[in-house]
Amino acid sequence: MITDTHAHVTWESFDADREEVFARAAREGISRIVLVGTDLASSRAVAECARGRAGVYPTAGIHPHDAQHADAATRAAIEELCAAPECVAVGETGLDWFKQFSPREAQLASFRWQLALARRLDKPVIVHCRDAHEDVLELLREQRGVRGVMHCYSLGAEELPHYLELGMYISFSGVVTYPKNERNREAARAVPLERLLVETDCPFLAPQSRRGKRNEPAFLRETLGEIARLRGAQTEELARATSANAQRLFGFGAG
Ligand SMILES: [Zn+2]
Repeated sequence: MITDTHAHVTWESFDADREEVFARAAREGISRIVLVGTDLASSRAVAECARGRAGVYPTAGIHPHDAQHADAATRAAIEELCAAPECVAVGETGLDWFKQFSPREAQLASFRWQLALARRLDKPVIVHCRDAHEDVLELLREQRGVRGVMHCYSLGAEELPHYLELGMYISFSGVVTYPKNERNREAARAVPLERLLVETDCPFLAPQSRRGKRNEPAFLRETLGEIARLRGAQTEELARATSANAQRLFGFGAG
């Protein structure tokens, strides 16, 4: 069993062949997929897409890029989606000082609100962090005790202890397969096995053999294989461990 902890299969680039994408994932042993919402429309879409689909679990949240558009009505609707029993996490949320599509104040307020929501609902939070390490840590520390995952971890091994100490899980994407990314590989070697997760973040970040093309859950084996190689582990053993970790963090129901 392999668990893709972060996928955007409701993205329009999957409109033509979504069912095929799910079928290919199943054939490759990707038996669990977390479908991640990034704004109200996509959070509704992932809830709809996951309905009645075995092993597919929705989240609801507001991406830092969309933080400025989240008014009170949007937040209330996101909160309602997050509170649904089938929703496995709040997010993705976080901070992005690299693109900064939303102003800093809006991103900070939105991330704070979603951390508090995760605490209130006792659900994990999915954190996007780009060029915002210090501020992400500060806000996580404000809400110490909220569990979650650093999605598409892009920092090095030296920043890891801060997140591990806060109880966060660390998720690696296809980025770990890119030749120049030795720093990311060092981090993938250093994460304790019981905190390690894998994801595609599809349609983005396809692993090296398909780099630049549309990514999909079926391609997760390549990323998992690379991390197994780095750690001197067997791919199947790592698949089991990361799936058990995902189960512990997200508490997947029968769905
Ligand atoms: Zn994402």
